[in-house]
Amino acid sequence: MVPVKIVVDHIKDTPLTVHIDEPVDTFPLLVTMQDDNNCSITGRIQGDLIVTREYENVRVSGRVSAPLALSCSRCLADITTFIDTSFTIFFRKEVALNASTEDELELGEMDLLSSSYSGDEIDLTHEIEEQIAMEIPVKPLCSESCKGLCHECGTDLNTSSCSCSKENVSLAFSALKDFKVTKK
Ligand SMILES: [Zn+2]
Ligand SMILES: [Zn+2]
Repeated sequence: MVPVKIVVDHIKDTPLTVHIDEPVDTFPLLVTMQDDNNCSITGRIQGDLIVTREYENVRVSGRVSAPLALSCSRCLADITTFIDTSFTIFFRKEVALNASTEDELELGEMDLLSSSYSGDEIDLTHEIEEQIAMEIPVKPLCSESCKGLCHECGTDLNTSSCSCSKENVSLAFSALKDFKVTKK
């Protein structure tokens, strides 16, 4: 578990390129999410970041990706997917927040993600894991039209049907028909 860190003094006039290739274990939040959300990151977290220094502030932009396996929230079928997300985070040094700092930002940059750092290192571990975590679907679906499992007997309604589901569907349908008729 070595955190992904950048040393601010290593960023010179030219942007610093940081290649990320880490096991899931590096990111505590993702380890927790695997347990809680019943999903699994099936490979390494990879990415490329460009780190630019702007006076005492540091801009990190780039993309990170991770292969992900989860199960459909309706029918429990296995889903494999790939998270690939781009971001820009602006790190302000955590001292002397003078009024002019805001003015130095170019227009349109206020909506950037911003964070802060202190000392001479920036730990990117948490920022990276948050970017990945935001992309993990809370209610994954194998397809938008997934019919799910029958609540009564557990039959997968995508591949077969059962008597209990037919009853429910026809009841719902006749109720709808009645409604239309009474409206006329
Ligand atoms: Zn499904
Ligand atoms: Zn059924």
